[in-house]
Amino acid sequence: MTPLLRPAYLWAPPETASLPVKGRDERAPVNRLFFVGRNYHAHAAEMGRPVDKSVERPFYFTKSPQTLVHSGATVAYPPQTANFHHEMELVIVIGAPGFAVPAETAGALVFGYACGLDMTRRDLQLAARDKGRPWDLGKDVELSSVVSDIIAMPGEVLTRGAITLAVNGATRQSSDLDKLIWSVPEIIADLSLFYHLAPGDLIFTGTPEGVGAVGPGDRLEGRIDGVGEIALTIAPACGPDARHGAS
Ligand code: MN
Repeated sequence: MTPLLRPAYLWAPPETASLPVKGRDERAPVNRLFFVGRNYHAHAAEMGRPVDKSVERPFYFTKSPQTLVHSGATVAYPPQTANFHHEMELVIVIGAPGFAVPAETAGALVFGYACGLDMTRRDLQLAARDKGRPWDLGKDVELSSVVSDIIAMPGEVLTRGAITLAVNGATRQSSDLDKLIWSVPEIIADLSLFYHLAPGDLIFTGTPEGVGAVGPGDRLEGRIDGVGEIALTIAPACGPDARHGAS
């Protein structure tokens, strides 16, 4: 019998990021976090970068899995920004491996869906964009990838459903999944040309119009019909000695 060899580490390795699944005892381990850039015409327009689908392809950025936060958390206002924005999004949860899959069969990779908030240091993102620099400091923000419980819908393709976000009870974002420029199967198919998609990959599908700033004390509440609800509370910024963590 081969003994189970456990390597000795110099410090504790990162914990596996995971999310609850409605109606299941097992959690879904999370692999990578992918984000579609501009995927609603009205949001692309408000960002000053309209999209012509006939001549463009979707584009993506990523965040580290360490930025994942479960819905319901309270997170501190992040450092180095004066314009911290909400982006309410549908999240696709990949449940089967796939590479270069055609859109016609891309739904087979779907495990389920969740609500997501792609929290963004907008001032840093736009400064980077306008200088042709990477978006990481604007987007790969600690505790900025907020995700709800996952609803398992294996193989199902969502094509419609109201998507809304309110801040302190006032609606800021209100649209419908039927306004996605690139649909769920089109996104999976296109992204799978660049990455070998794997179970646990999350794809944030882009935000509708109405993005805006939040501050300490604000309560964010979003929902997507047929998927679920998400909430986030913003706490005051951490001091230099405080540990930056969700609670
Ligand atoms: Mn986004």
